[in-house]
Amino acid sequence: MSRALDDLDPRFKPVACELVARASEHLLPVLITFTSRTAAEQAVAVATGASRVAHSKHQDGLAIDICPYDIYQLHGPDKLKWDTHDPSWARLGSLGEALGLRWGGRWHDPLDPGHFEWLLDGEHYKDIPITSAAFAVHGLSV
Ligand SMILES: [Zn+2]
Repeated sequence: MSRALDDLDPRFKPVACELVARASEHLLPVLITFTSRTAAEQAVAVATGASRVAHSKHQDGLAIDICPYDIYQLHGPDKLKWDTHDPSWARLGSLGEALGLRWGGRWHDPLDPGHFEWLLDGEHYKDIPITSAAFAVHGLSV
């Protein structure tokens, strides 16, 4: 498992850097918990309940997991212990969606508010709100 921005896909890396910078700009410092995972690491994430998908965008360098620093200090790296109702997550979600990213805070099973992923051109999901910049950034049709 990596926390390195350099392990991200070159299309996504500048946007991930901007997300982290925008969070800091909004006085919401974050910790990068994961950037990339191997297939074996993804299998472990599924086994422990941290993920539900066999293939994650983290394996392609197209996703980043971040956590508000205050929450990380309270509960450590086990995201299943994080308070997902803390308003900091919604603030991060707004910042990520303004950059055209898909936000795991829109998911319900499991809710994953620290997860942001890059969409490939034409890729579309029902959880992406009409207000998301993803429509403009990736040329998605409504
Ligand atoms: Zn993730």
